[in-house]
Amino acid sequence: MKKTIPALLLVLAASTAIHAQSASDSRPPLPKPELTEQWAPVPPVVAAPAATGIPSDAIVLFDGSNLDAWESTDAKNPAPRWTLEPASRAMVVAPKTGNLRTKASFGDVQLHIEWRSPAEVKKSGQGRGNSGIFFMDLYELQVLDSYQNETYANGQAASIYKQFPPLANASRAPGEWQTYDAVFIAPRFKADGSTDTPARLTVFHNGVLVQHDTALRGGTEFRGLPVYKKHAARLPLSLQNHGGDLVAFRNIWVRELSFPPPPPIPDLPSPPYALDPKK
Ligand code: MG
Repeated sequence: MKKTIPALLLVLAASTAIHAQSASDSRPPLPKPELTEQWAPVPPVVAAPAATGIPSDAIVLFDGSNLDAWESTDAKNPAPRWTLEPASRAMVVAPKTGNLRTKASFGDVQLHIEWRSPAEVKKSGQGRGNSGIFFMDLYELQVLDSYQNETYANGQAASIYKQFPPLANASRAPGEWQTYDAVFIAPRFKADGSTDTPARLTVFHNGVLVQHDTALRGGTEFRGLPVYKKHAARLPLSLQNHGGDLVAFRNIWVRELSFPPPPPIPDLPSPPYALDPKK
């Protein structure tokens, strides 16, 4: 009984102190939680793929059966003449037949592509399994056999060619299939032709982050500095035929990306808020 009275006094004193604090708190009260809930627009439902599958909203550019989605950059002979390799559902670069580019044009995309450099190593440096993926036919994500193969860092596999080395060399051995999963954001241009926002690229190479929201300096240039030149909002994706290196590709798909404008900020007082009276 002796202990009960001081304990009760302590509780009363504490309660009085809290009450006094909240009464003098000039901070706005905590808004209701539902006032910061966003219910629309509702993100579209995309059926998640199986471990090696394709999302339900992807555009399949190559599944091994034909080259119908592609054309050659050789203006004299636009029919795609790269070689189909049915056993691995792949296409292989055919020397002196030009690059391939998609018939369709794209802007912002998520890309999945698998590639394989030749198992037999004949050359070194840039001459070893060289190809490339050109977003918008202008911005090259380098394909190269960079497995124990020295070359300039901004020209190795998963580099943005002659601009940015990859964050890591995640290369597999020659002859093994490798993956790129990329998010490419097209550049935006102002009416006067100047660059509003640069192209940006995020890439995973065999599941390893190798480019993180990298802002490109312009279109890919073999010689000299890259520059931006105003172009259409959508352009083809292309694959490089580099010296006839017999690089193979398979399982190529893109998801076209659209980004809704940021939701409006609710008309609420700004933090810091007063203490939650319920706690
Ligand atoms: Mg290349």
